[in-house]
Amino acid sequence: MAELPDKRTAFIDWYLAVVEAANLSDKRYPVKGMNVWTPYGFRARRNLDRVMVREIEATGSQAVEFPTLIPQNEFAKEKEHIKGFDAQVFWVTRGGLSELDIPLVLRPTSETAIYPIFALWVRSHRDLPLNVYQIVNTFRYETKTTRPFVRVREIHFFEEHTCQLDEAAATERVRSNREAFRRMAHALALPYLALRRPPWDTFPGAHYTVAFDIPLAGARTLQLGSVHHYRDNFSVPYGIRYEAPDGSERPVHQTTFGLSERLLGAIVGAHGDARGAVFPSEIAPYEVVVVPVVAGPSASSVLPAARSVADELRAAGRRVVLDDGDERPGAKYYRWELAGAPLRLEVGAREVESGRLTAVDRLGRKAPLERAALVAEVGRRLGDYDAELLRRASEALREAISPAATLAELHDAQQVRWVGWCGAEDCGHEIEKAIDGALLGTPEEPLPFPLEPPTRCIACGRTEGVRAALAAQPM
Ligand code: ZN
Repeated sequence: MAELPDKRTAFIDWYLAVVEAANLSDKRYPVKGMNVWTPYGFRARRNLDRVMVREIEATGSQAVEFPTLIPQNEFAKEKEHIKGFDAQVFWVTRGGLSELDIPLVLRPTSETAIYPIFALWVRSHRDLPLNVYQIVNTFRYETKTTRPFVRVREIHFFEEHTCQLDEAAATERVRSNREAFRRMAHALALPYLALRRPPWDTFPGAHYTVAFDIPLAGARTLQLGSVHHYRDNFSVPYGIRYEAPDGSERPVHQTTFGLSERLLGAIVGAHGDARGAVFPSEIAPYEVVVVPVVAGPSASSVLPAARSVADELRAAGRRVVLDDGDERPGAKYYRWELAGAPLRLEVGAREVESGRLTAVDRLGRKAPLERAALVAEVGRRLGDYDAELLRRASEALREAISPAATLAELHDAQQVRWVGWCGAEDCGHEIEKAIDGALLGTPEEPLPFPLEPPTRCIACGRTEGVRAALAAQPM
Protein backbone atom coordinates (compact mmCIF):
# COMPACT_ATOMS: atom_id res chain seq x y z
CA MET A 1 0.00 0.00 0.00
CA ALA A 2 1.04 3.56 -0.65
CA GLU A 3 2.66 5.49 2.17
CA LEU A 4 0.87 8.48 3.65
CA PRO A 5 2.25 11.95 2.85
CA ASP A 6 4.44 13.47 5.57
CA LYS A 7 2.32 15.09 8.29
CA ARG A 8 4.87 17.76 9.12
CA THR A 9 5.72 18.97 5.62
CA ALA A 10 2.47 18.25 3.76
CA PHE A 11 -0.20 18.50 6.43
CA ILE A 12 -3.27 18.97 4.21
CA ASP A 13 -2.29 16.14 1.85
CA TRP A 14 -1.62 13.93 4.85
CA TYR A 15 -4.99 14.86 6.42
CA LEU A 16 -6.96 14.11 3.23
CA ALA A 17 -5.10 10.81 2.76
CA VAL A 18 -5.84 9.70 6.33
CA VAL A 19 -9.56 10.54 6.08
CA GLU A 20 -9.71 8.49 2.92
CA ALA A 21 -7.53 5.58 4.04
CA ALA A 22 -9.45 5.29 7.32
CA ASN A 23 -12.68 5.33 5.29
CA LEU A 24 -14.30 8.03 7.42
CA SER A 25 -15.97 9.99 4.64
CA ASP A 26 -16.71 9.56 0.93
CA LYS A 27 -16.21 12.78 -1.01
CA ARG A 28 -17.46 11.44 -4.35
CA TYR A 29 -21.02 12.76 -3.90
CA PRO A 30 -21.74 15.04 -6.88
CA VAL A 31 -22.21 18.27 -4.87
CA LYS A 32 -19.08 20.07 -3.77
CA GLY A 33 -18.56 19.99 0.00
CA MET A 34 -21.41 17.59 0.65
CA ASN A 35 -19.82 14.34 1.70
CA VAL A 36 -21.21 10.95 2.52
CA TRP A 37 -20.89 9.55 6.03
CA THR A 38 -19.58 6.02 5.64
CA PRO A 39 -20.59 3.32 8.16
CA TYR A 40 -17.22 3.69 9.91
CA GLY A 41 -17.32 7.51 9.94
CA PHE A 42 -20.92 7.51 11.12
CA ARG A 43 -19.95 5.40 14.14
CA ALA A 44 -17.36 8.03 15.11
CA ARG A 45 -19.92 10.80 14.61
CA ARG A 46 -22.49 9.02 16.77
CA ASN A 47 -19.92 8.65 19.54
CA LEU A 48 -19.06 12.33 19.26
CA ASP A 49 -22.75 13.25 19.49
CA ARG A 50 -23.08 11.09 22.58
CA VAL A 51 -20.32 13.01 24.35
CA MET A 52 -21.85 16.38 23.39
CA VAL A 53 -25.32 15.33 24.52
CA ARG A 54 -24.05 13.93 27.80
CA GLU A 55 -22.12 17.07 28.73
CA ILE A 56 -24.69 19.65 27.63
CA GLU A 57 -27.58 17.81 29.29
CA ALA A 58 -25.54 17.69 32.49
CA THR A 59 -26.00 21.50 32.52
CA GLY A 60 -29.79 21.26 32.25
CA SER A 61 -30.12 21.90 28.53
CA GLN A 62 -32.91 20.10 26.66
CA ALA A 63 -33.00 18.79 23.10
CA VAL A 64 -35.33 20.37 20.53
CA GLU A 65 -35.49 20.37 16.76
CA PHE A 66 -36.49 23.31 14.60
CA PRO A 67 -37.25 23.23 10.86
CA THR A 68 -34.51 23.46 8.23
CA LEU A 69 -36.08 26.27 6.20
CA ILE A 70 -36.27 29.90 7.38
CA PRO A 71 -38.46 32.58 5.76
CA GLN A 72 -36.47 35.48 4.34
CA ASN A 73 -38.29 38.08 6.45
CA GLU A 74 -37.37 36.32 9.71
CA PHE A 75 -33.82 35.75 8.51
CA ALA A 76 -33.34 39.48 7.89
CA LYS A 77 -34.44 40.85 11.28
CA GLU A 78 -31.02 41.28 12.90
CA LYS A 79 -28.88 43.60 10.74
CA GLU A 80 -25.38 42.41 11.66
CA HIS A 81 -26.38 38.78 11.50
CA ILE A 82 -27.80 39.05 8.00
CA LYS A 83 -24.73 41.01 6.88
CA GLY A 84 -22.51 38.20 8.14
CA PHE A 85 -24.42 35.36 6.55
CA ASP A 86 -26.01 36.81 3.42
CA ALA A 87 -23.27 35.65 1.06
CA GLN A 88 -23.16 32.18 2.59
CA VAL A 89 -26.71 30.91 2.29
CA PHE A 90 -28.49 28.55 -0.06
CA TRP A 91 -31.93 29.81 -1.12
CA VAL A 92 -35.09 27.89 -1.86
CA THR A 93 -37.09 30.07 -4.22
CA ARG A 94 -39.54 27.63 -5.77
CA GLY A 95 -42.15 25.23 -4.46
CA GLY A 96 -43.02 22.75 -7.17
CA LEU A 97 -43.69 24.84 -10.27
CA SER A 98 -44.40 28.18 -8.59
CA GLU A 99 -42.12 30.89 -7.30
CA LEU A 100 -42.49 31.27 -3.55
CA ASP A 101 -43.95 34.56 -2.25
CA ILE A 102 -41.38 34.57 0.51
CA PRO A 103 -38.12 32.84 -0.41
CA LEU A 104 -36.73 30.40 2.14
CA VAL A 105 -33.19 30.10 3.48
CA LEU A 106 -31.62 26.73 4.16
CA ARG A 107 -30.44 27.37 7.72
CA PRO A 108 -26.76 28.38 7.96
CA THR A 109 -27.29 28.52 11.76
CA SER A 110 -30.63 28.64 13.57
CA GLU A 111 -30.98 31.93 15.46
CA THR A 112 -33.52 33.23 12.99
CA ALA A 113 -35.48 29.95 12.95
CA ILE A 114 -35.64 29.67 16.72
CA TYR A 115 -36.07 33.22 18.03
CA PRO A 116 -39.53 33.98 16.61
CA ILE A 117 -40.69 30.90 18.55
CA PHE A 118 -38.73 31.85 21.67
CA ALA A 119 -40.77 35.09 21.58
CA LEU A 120 -43.90 32.92 22.02
CA TRP A 121 -42.39 30.60 24.64
CA VAL A 122 -40.97 33.25 26.96
CA ARG A 123 -43.62 35.19 28.89
CA SER A 124 -42.52 35.58 32.47
CA HIS A 125 -39.32 35.48 34.51
CA ARG A 126 -40.52 32.03 35.57
CA ASP A 127 -39.85 30.79 32.01
CA LEU A 128 -36.15 31.60 32.43
CA PRO A 129 -33.54 30.39 31.96
CA LEU A 130 -34.53 28.68 28.72
CA ASN A 131 -31.68 26.39 27.64
CA VAL A 132 -32.20 24.22 24.56
CA TYR A 133 -29.94 22.60 21.98
CA GLN A 134 -30.27 20.76 18.72
CA ILE A 135 -28.00 18.57 16.62
CA VAL A 136 -28.99 19.12 12.99
CA ASN A 137 -27.45 19.73 9.60
CA THR A 138 -26.75 23.31 8.58
CA PHE A 139 -25.79 24.61 5.17
CA ARG A 140 -23.26 27.17 3.99
CA TYR A 141 -22.50 28.17 0.46
CA GLU A 142 -18.76 27.70 0.88
CA THR A 143 -16.75 29.09 -2.03
CA LYS A 144 -13.28 28.13 -0.80
CA THR A 145 -11.78 24.66 -1.22
CA THR A 146 -13.83 22.24 0.85
CA ARG A 147 -12.29 19.54 3.05
CA PRO A 148 -13.98 16.66 4.86
CA PHE A 149 -15.17 17.64 8.38
CA VAL A 150 -13.23 20.91 8.37
CA ARG A 151 -14.85 22.99 5.67
CA VAL A 152 -18.03 21.59 4.14
CA ARG A 153 -21.31 22.87 2.74
CA GLU A 154 -23.56 20.56 4.69
CA ILE A 155 -22.45 20.57 8.31
CA HIS A 156 -23.36 18.19 11.11
CA PHE A 157 -23.92 20.89 13.73
CA PHE A 158 -24.54 21.18 17.45
CA GLU A 159 -26.08 24.47 18.60
CA GLU A 160 -27.32 25.53 22.00
CA HIS A 161 -29.55 28.61 22.26
CA THR A 162 -30.45 30.13 25.58
CA CYS A 163 -32.49 32.97 27.09
CA GLN A 164 -31.40 34.45 30.41
CA LEU A 165 -32.76 37.05 32.83
CA ASP A 166 -30.01 39.60 32.30
CA GLU A 167 -26.50 40.22 31.12
CA ALA A 168 -24.88 38.68 34.21
CA ALA A 169 -26.91 35.48 33.89
CA ALA A 170 -25.89 35.24 30.23
CA THR A 171 -22.25 35.73 31.22
CA GLU A 172 -22.69 32.87 33.67
CA ARG A 173 -24.13 30.68 30.89
CA VAL A 174 -21.05 31.43 28.74
CA ARG A 175 -18.91 30.26 31.65
CA SER A 176 -20.97 27.10 32.10
CA ASN A 177 -20.66 26.35 28.36
CA ARG A 178 -16.90 26.77 28.60
CA GLU A 179 -16.87 24.22 31.40
CA ALA A 180 -19.02 21.82 29.35
CA PHE A 181 -16.61 22.21 26.46
CA ARG A 182 -13.68 21.51 28.76
CA ARG A 183 -15.26 18.17 29.68
CA MET A 184 -16.03 17.33 26.04
CA ALA A 185 -12.50 18.16 24.92
CA HIS A 186 -11.10 16.01 27.71
CA ALA A 187 -13.10 13.05 26.43
CA LEU A 188 -11.62 13.72 22.99
CA ALA A 189 -8.10 14.11 24.42
CA LEU A 190 -7.92 17.53 22.74
CA PRO A 191 -6.09 20.34 24.53
CA TYR A 192 -7.07 23.80 23.23
CA LEU A 193 -6.92 27.57 23.69
CA ALA A 194 -10.04 29.49 24.80
CA LEU A 195 -9.74 32.91 23.15
CA ARG A 196 -11.96 35.96 23.04
CA ARG A 197 -12.09 36.91 19.37
CA PRO A 198 -11.29 40.52 18.42
CA PRO A 199 -14.38 42.66 17.66
CA TRP A 200 -13.99 42.36 13.86
CA ASP A 201 -14.02 38.56 14.12
CA THR A 202 -16.98 38.34 16.50
CA PHE A 203 -19.95 36.20 15.42
CA PRO A 204 -22.37 38.36 13.37
CA GLY A 205 -24.80 39.91 15.86
CA ALA A 206 -22.92 38.86 19.00
CA HIS A 207 -21.68 41.12 21.81
CA TYR A 208 -18.58 38.93 22.10
CA THR A 209 -17.34 35.51 21.02
CA VAL A 210 -15.13 33.03 22.83
CA ALA A 211 -13.69 30.44 20.46
CA PHE A 212 -11.74 27.27 21.12
CA ASP A 213 -8.72 26.71 18.88
CA ILE A 214 -6.17 23.95 18.52
CA PRO A 215 -2.82 24.33 16.72
CA LEU A 216 -2.45 21.55 14.14
CA ALA A 217 0.65 22.09 12.04
CA GLY A 218 3.10 24.97 11.90
CA ALA A 219 1.17 28.21 12.39
CA ARG A 220 -2.07 26.52 11.33
CA THR A 221 -4.97 26.31 13.79
CA LEU A 222 -8.46 24.85 13.70
CA GLN A 223 -11.44 26.39 15.48
CA LEU A 224 -13.16 23.62 17.44
CA GLY A 225 -16.23 25.55 18.49
CA SER A 226 -17.43 28.80 19.99
CA VAL A 227 -19.65 30.38 22.61
CA HIS A 228 -21.36 33.72 22.03
CA HIS A 229 -22.85 36.32 24.34
CA TYR A 230 -25.62 38.16 22.47
CA ARG A 231 -26.79 40.55 25.20
CA ASP A 232 -30.21 41.68 23.85
CA ASN A 233 -29.02 42.09 20.26
CA PHE A 234 -31.44 39.44 18.98
CA SER A 235 -34.13 39.55 21.66
CA VAL A 236 -34.99 43.19 20.85
CA PRO A 237 -35.64 42.71 17.10
CA TYR A 238 -37.29 39.32 17.70
CA GLY A 239 -39.37 40.56 20.65
CA ILE A 240 -38.23 37.95 23.20
CA ARG A 241 -39.41 39.72 26.36
CA TYR A 242 -40.53 38.71 29.80
CA GLU A 243 -42.43 40.21 32.67
CA ALA A 244 -40.13 40.77 35.64
CA PRO A 245 -41.34 40.26 39.25
CA ASP A 246 -41.89 44.05 39.52
CA GLY A 247 -44.26 43.96 36.54
CA SER A 248 -41.87 45.64 34.08
CA GLU A 249 -41.21 44.12 30.63
CA ARG A 250 -37.62 43.33 29.71
CA PRO A 251 -35.78 41.75 26.79
CA VAL A 252 -33.92 38.53 27.64
CA HIS A 253 -30.17 38.25 27.25
CA GLN A 254 -29.04 35.37 25.08
CA THR A 255 -26.16 33.01 24.47
CA THR A 256 -25.30 30.33 21.94
CA PHE A 257 -22.79 27.51 21.88
CA GLY A 258 -21.78 25.93 18.57
CA LEU A 259 -19.83 22.77 17.73
CA SER A 260 -19.66 20.60 14.67
CA GLU A 261 -18.20 17.64 12.85
CA ARG A 262 -14.99 19.69 12.81
CA LEU A 263 -14.20 18.01 16.09
CA LEU A 264 -13.67 14.82 14.09
CA GLY A 265 -11.33 16.71 11.78
CA ALA A 266 -9.47 17.92 14.86
CA ILE A 267 -9.17 14.38 16.20
CA VAL A 268 -7.70 13.20 12.90
CA GLY A 269 -5.44 16.25 12.64
CA ALA A 270 -4.20 16.36 16.22
CA HIS A 271 -3.77 12.67 17.05
CA GLY A 272 -3.08 11.08 13.66
CA ASP A 273 0.44 10.01 12.70
CA ALA A 274 2.49 8.44 9.93
CA ARG A 275 0.46 5.25 10.21
CA GLY A 276 -3.00 6.82 10.01
CA ALA A 277 -5.81 7.95 12.29
CA VAL A 278 -5.61 7.65 16.09
CA PHE A 279 -8.95 7.71 17.92
CA PRO A 280 -9.46 8.44 21.60
CA SER A 281 -11.46 5.53 22.96
CA GLU A 282 -14.70 7.50 23.58
CA ILE A 283 -14.94 8.42 19.90
CA ALA A 284 -13.38 5.34 18.29
CA PRO A 285 -15.86 3.48 16.07
CA TYR A 286 -14.46 0.33 17.71
CA GLU A 287 -12.46 0.53 20.90
CA VAL A 288 -11.06 -2.96 20.59
CA VAL A 289 -10.19 -5.07 17.56
CA VAL A 290 -9.81 -8.79 18.17
CA VAL A 291 -7.61 -10.52 15.58
CA PRO A 292 -7.41 -14.31 15.57
CA VAL A 293 -3.99 -15.50 14.49
CA VAL A 294 -4.85 -18.79 12.87
CA ALA A 295 -1.93 -21.03 11.86
CA GLY A 296 -0.95 -24.67 12.13
CA PRO A 297 -2.68 -27.54 13.91
CA SER A 298 -4.11 -25.49 16.81
CA ALA A 299 -6.22 -23.40 14.42
CA SER A 300 -9.46 -25.00 15.52
CA SER A 301 -9.20 -23.66 19.09
CA VAL A 302 -8.14 -20.14 18.13
CA LEU A 303 -11.28 -18.90 16.46
CA PRO A 304 -13.65 -19.87 19.29
CA ALA A 305 -11.21 -18.36 21.79
CA ALA A 306 -11.12 -15.09 19.84
CA ARG A 307 -14.90 -15.09 19.56
CA SER A 308 -15.33 -15.55 23.30
CA VAL A 309 -12.95 -12.62 23.95
CA ALA A 310 -15.03 -10.39 21.68
CA ASP A 311 -18.32 -11.59 23.19
CA GLU A 312 -17.19 -11.01 26.74
CA LEU A 313 -16.04 -7.45 25.99
CA ARG A 314 -19.22 -6.69 24.08
CA ALA A 315 -21.30 -7.94 26.99
CA ALA A 316 -19.34 -5.54 29.21
CA GLY A 317 -20.42 -2.64 26.98
CA ARG A 318 -17.26 -2.25 24.89
CA ARG A 319 -17.43 -1.49 21.17
CA VAL A 320 -15.61 -4.47 19.70
CA VAL A 321 -15.02 -5.92 16.26
CA LEU A 322 -13.82 -9.45 15.62
CA ASP A 323 -11.76 -9.36 12.43
CA ASP A 324 -12.00 -13.00 11.33
CA GLY A 325 -11.60 -12.34 7.61
CA ASP A 326 -9.09 -14.37 5.62
CA GLU A 327 -6.42 -11.66 5.22
CA ARG A 328 -3.03 -12.26 6.81
CA PRO A 329 -2.78 -10.90 10.39
CA GLY A 330 -0.13 -8.38 9.27
CA ALA A 331 -2.51 -6.89 6.71
CA LYS A 332 -5.25 -6.60 9.34
CA TYR A 333 -2.91 -4.87 11.78
CA TYR A 334 -1.96 -2.38 9.09
CA ARG A 335 -5.58 -1.67 8.19
CA TRP A 336 -6.73 -1.17 11.79
CA GLU A 337 -3.79 1.12 12.46
CA LEU A 338 -4.85 3.27 9.50
CA ALA A 339 -8.38 3.25 10.91
CA GLY A 340 -7.13 4.34 14.35
CA ALA A 341 -8.50 1.57 16.58
CA PRO A 342 -7.20 2.19 20.13
CA LEU A 343 -6.50 -1.40 21.18
CA ARG A 344 -5.77 -4.61 19.30
CA LEU A 345 -5.95 -8.01 20.94
CA GLU A 346 -4.17 -10.85 19.18
CA VAL A 347 -5.39 -14.34 19.90
CA GLY A 348 -3.24 -17.18 18.57
CA ALA A 349 -2.30 -20.68 19.69
CA ARG A 350 0.34 -19.33 22.07
CA GLU A 351 -2.17 -16.97 23.68
CA VAL A 352 -4.79 -19.70 24.06
CA GLU A 353 -2.25 -21.96 25.74
CA SER A 354 -0.72 -19.37 28.10
CA GLY A 355 -3.95 -17.61 29.03
CA ARG A 356 -2.32 -14.31 28.11
CA LEU A 357 -3.41 -12.32 25.07
CA THR A 358 -1.10 -10.00 23.17
CA ALA A 359 -2.40 -6.42 23.48
CA VAL A 360 -1.06 -3.60 21.28
CA ASP A 361 -2.40 -0.08 21.58
CA ARG A 362 -2.50 2.42 18.71
CA LEU A 363 0.51 4.23 20.17
CA GLY A 364 2.49 1.03 19.52
CA ARG A 365 2.75 -0.09 23.13
CA LYS A 366 2.69 -3.87 23.36
CA ALA A 367 2.12 -5.94 26.51
CA PRO A 368 0.54 -9.26 27.49
CA LEU A 369 -2.96 -9.12 28.96
CA GLU A 370 -4.37 -11.71 31.38
CA ARG A 371 -7.31 -13.46 29.74
CA ALA A 372 -8.84 -14.12 33.16
CA ALA A 373 -9.00 -10.37 33.91
CA LEU A 374 -10.04 -9.37 30.38
CA VAL A 375 -12.71 -6.72 31.03
CA ALA A 376 -10.87 -4.96 33.84
CA GLU A 377 -7.56 -5.06 31.98
CA VAL A 378 -9.01 -3.68 28.76
CA GLY A 379 -10.62 -0.85 30.75
CA ARG A 380 -7.31 -0.06 32.40
CA ARG A 381 -5.36 -0.17 29.11
CA LEU A 382 -7.84 2.13 27.39
CA GLY A 383 -7.77 4.59 30.29
CA ASP A 384 -4.00 4.63 30.19
CA TYR A 385 -4.03 5.02 26.39
CA ASP A 386 -6.38 8.03 26.54
CA ALA A 387 -4.23 9.67 29.22
CA GLU A 388 -1.11 9.18 27.09
CA LEU A 389 -2.91 10.56 24.03
CA LEU A 390 -3.86 13.70 25.97
CA ARG A 391 -0.35 14.02 27.38
CA ARG A 392 1.19 13.86 23.89
CA ALA A 393 -1.35 16.31 22.47
CA SER A 394 -0.74 18.73 25.35
CA GLU A 395 2.98 18.59 24.70
CA ALA A 396 2.33 19.27 21.02
CA LEU A 397 0.18 22.28 21.99
CA ARG A 398 2.97 23.68 24.13
CA GLU A 399 5.51 23.19 21.35
CA ALA A 400 3.21 24.81 18.79
CA ILE A 401 3.28 28.25 20.44
CA SER A 402 6.16 30.67 20.77
CA PRO A 403 6.44 34.37 21.66
CA ALA A 404 7.28 36.98 19.03
CA ALA A 405 8.48 40.52 19.80
CA THR A 406 8.52 42.08 16.33
CA LEU A 407 6.25 41.96 13.28
CA ALA A 408 9.19 40.68 11.21
CA GLU A 409 9.21 37.53 13.33
CA LEU A 410 5.68 36.77 12.15
CA HIS A 411 6.69 36.38 8.51
CA ASP A 412 6.81 32.73 7.43
CA ALA A 413 5.75 31.73 10.93
CA GLN A 414 6.19 28.04 11.60
CA GLN A 415 4.37 28.31 14.91
CA VAL A 416 1.39 30.01 16.48
CA ARG A 417 2.74 33.28 17.89
CA TRP A 418 2.17 34.87 21.28
CA VAL A 419 2.26 38.66 20.87
CA GLY A 420 1.52 41.91 22.70
CA TRP A 421 -1.43 43.89 21.36
CA CYS A 422 -2.69 47.32 22.44
CA GLY A 423 -6.27 46.52 21.46
CA ALA A 424 -6.40 48.93 18.48
CA GLU A 425 -8.01 47.51 15.38
CA ASP A 426 -5.32 48.95 13.07
CA CYS A 427 -2.62 47.16 15.04
CA GLY A 428 -4.65 43.97 14.93
CA HIS A 429 -4.82 44.12 11.16
CA GLU A 430 -1.08 44.81 10.91
CA ILE A 431 -0.45 41.67 12.94
CA GLU A 432 -2.77 39.70 10.68
CA LYS A 433 -1.00 40.97 7.58
CA ALA A 434 2.41 40.06 9.00
CA ILE A 435 1.44 36.48 9.79
CA ASP A 436 -0.79 36.17 6.72
CA GLY A 437 -3.56 34.91 8.97
CA ALA A 438 -5.63 36.08 11.90
CA LEU A 439 -5.36 37.60 15.32
CA LEU A 440 -7.15 34.75 17.08
CA GLY A 441 -7.79 36.82 20.18
CA THR A 442 -6.90 37.14 23.84
CA PRO A 443 -6.93 34.26 26.35
CA GLU A 444 -10.28 33.97 28.11
CA GLU A 445 -8.79 31.35 30.40
CA PRO A 446 -5.17 30.95 31.49
CA LEU A 447 -3.14 28.99 28.92
CA PRO A 448 -2.52 25.36 29.88
CA PHE A 449 1.15 26.35 30.39
CA PRO A 450 2.71 29.66 31.46
CA LEU A 451 4.08 32.23 29.02
CA GLU A 452 5.61 35.58 29.93
CA PRO A 453 3.02 38.39 29.49
CA PRO A 454 4.14 40.77 26.72
CA THR A 455 4.81 44.39 27.67
CA ARG A 456 4.56 46.22 24.32
CA CYS A 457 2.23 46.14 21.35
CA ILE A 458 4.08 44.28 18.62
CA ALA A 459 2.65 46.66 16.00
CA CYS A 460 2.86 50.19 17.51
CA GLY A 461 5.17 49.65 20.47
CA ARG A 462 2.77 51.19 23.01
CA THR A 463 2.99 49.89 26.54
CA GLU A 464 -0.38 51.07 27.96
CA GLY A 465 -3.32 48.69 27.85
CA VAL A 466 -1.24 45.90 26.33
CA ARG A 467 -2.68 42.42 26.45
CA ALA A 468 -1.42 39.04 25.27
CA ALA A 469 -2.93 37.70 22.05
CA LEU A 470 -2.35 34.79 19.71
CA ALA A 471 -1.76 35.08 15.98
CA ALA A 472 -2.03 32.16 13.59
CA GLN A 473 -3.24 30.89 10.23
CA PRO A 474 -6.71 29.39 10.75
CA MET A 475 -7.50 26.37 8.55
ZN1 ZN B 1 -0.79 48.82 18.94
